[in-house]
Amino acid sequence: MGTYINIKCGKCGKSMTGGYQRGSTSMLGVTHIQCKSPYCLEWNKTNSKPYSQFEKSDKLIYNGGIVLRSILIGGIFGTFPSFALMDKIEAYTVRMLVLFGFAAIGAFLYFKVAMWLTRKNISAVEEEQNTINQKMQIPIFPMEKQNDNKSLINLLFKKNK
Ligand SMILES: [Zn+2]
Repeated sequence: MGTYINIKCGKCGKSMTGGYQRGSTSMLGVTHIQCKSPYCLEWNKTNSKPYSQFEKSDKLIYNGGIVLRSILIGGIFGTFPSFALMDKIEAYTVRMLVLFGFAAIGAFLYFKVAMWLTRKNISAVEEEQNTINQKMQIPIFPMEKQNDNKSLINLLFKKNK
């Protein structure tokens, strides 16, 4: 399973992944990659961005995905060890409690490991992005959202000056 992608440079058309490669276009990643052709070296924009540039909705989708995978994958695998106990338990409700208990433990463990890997991945991307920003010489501005009222006041204030 898995998708094969081939990313080509937008300027010279040379493949930047060395033909088709296993991988996926994930939302977490660096914003630009450089063309490997020494005659081009063009910076190509990706569809990814570092976690620090995520909007609230991006964070919700990204973190929601981890929670969902924890429940589905971790939960299902978590029930496996409980099957061995099923013969020994008579009462249906106790069986269900044991089953869901194991599922909860599985989901929790999956979530813990996934979060640990995610944090490592997030800081690795952040570091890589800083290096790319320096190479590309793009200034790093913190995301700034202005309040409408505030900008209106600024506008009026400037007019009055
Ligand atoms: Zn190129």
